[in-house]
Amino acid sequence: MRRRADTTGAAHALTSPPTNSHPELFYNPMSLNHRVVVTGAGGFIGHHLTKYLVENGYWVRGVDIKYPEYEETAAHEFEILDLRRFDNALVAMRGVGQVYALAADMGGIGFIESHKGEIMRNNTLISLNSLEAARVHGVERLLYTSSACIYPGYLQRDENVTPLKESDAYPADAEDGYGWEKLYTERMCRHYMEDFGLETRVVRFHNIFGPLGTYDGGREKSPAAMCRKIAMAEDGGTIEVWGDGHQTRSYCYIDDCVEGIYRLMNSNYSQPINLGQDRMISVNELVDMVAAVAGKTIHRTHNLNAPQGVRGRNSDNTLLRDVLNWEPEVSLEEGLARTYRWISQQIRKAAGDAERVRVMGAGAGEDA
Ligand code: NAD
Repeated sequence: MRRRADTTGAAHALTSPPTNSHPELFYNPMSLNHRVVVTGAGGFIGHHLTKYLVENGYWVRGVDIKYPEYEETAAHEFEILDLRRFDNALVAMRGVGQVYALAADMGGIGFIESHKGEIMRNNTLISLNSLEAARVHGVERLLYTSSACIYPGYLQRDENVTPLKESDAYPADAEDGYGWEKLYTERMCRHYMEDFGLETRVVRFHNIFGPLGTYDGGREKSPAAMCRKIAMAEDGGTIEVWGDGHQTRSYCYIDDCVEGIYRLMNSNYSQPINLGQDRMISVNELVDMVAAVAGKTIHRTHNLNAPQGVRGRNSDNTLLRDVLNWEPEVSLEEGLARTYRWISQQIRKAAGDAERVRVMGAGAGEDA
């Protein structure tokens, strides 16, 4: 039988009581079905998902340690809460029926290969606190955002990789650090469902990209990095590519990602499932596609010492099609065109702002 939290005194269900007991935490409104929390709502996918849910009639509380960088949030409520603390997680999960758990310390391959301890510590705390706080509050459903990084390295050594299907996850040999935490939390979701009746959903993303995502600073992923480099290059110029560029990936546009998340949350399927495109291309081909969108001739140099991740990765979408009766629809060309347009606008805007500061700075100097 499903065990729900005692809404009059759920704190008793905790092994260690929260340090910060808010009396309103255990309030249970009549209908929670359309009240949701999105954690990581200040980030790329969380921000888009929040917009989508609000447009579809949901009441949304966004939670993050930062506000969205490039646009106002659409959330009805947005709370700055560090989910590494359990008392904050309890505040975050109050009075809702569903939790979309997207918060994570994450970035592209350069970041995750060089911050393994930090990532595992932060993400284990965030994930565990989110699940436990959802359980305490008697939340109906929690969707956890896992990653293709849980798939074993030994299946991804060839650029002509066989597409990865969900059952390939074991015997495990996940991406060191980031991938192991994802695999652990997938398992926690399963056990929270079995032991406590919290309905969990687990989605494994394969390289999501699109506008309003990080495109500089070291945490960006390859499509955003290529768009930035090409936007900043002259026609006929040269950009640096990490590795020999023959490594392969598939890329999924953000609008498809958000729709897939929503469909999965509302499905009856509780095992981990891939969400990505199954069109595999090399990083060199990605560069050529972005250059075509930009209308520039671009040459490449290859930095063979830079981190490259696995040699090949693609999504097997058989289960996705069966379970959701749907699959991603936006073509890579269309997605890249929209993303390139946004990133090049951001770069032009930043250059304009820098020039204005320079001119104003020069003016101020003359006045003094
Ligand atoms: P993102 O970095 O843009 O968003 C993650 C958000 O989590 C950020 O806004 C960050 O501030 C927030 N966060 C970090 N630490 C926090 C804390 N202690 N408390 C509260 N919030 C915190 O990343 P994204 O691309 O939007 O990814 C969303 C989720 O999807 C993550 O769990 C990520 O691991 C997963 N994922 C993404 C991809 C992808 O291609 N983007 C691929 C696989 C998995």
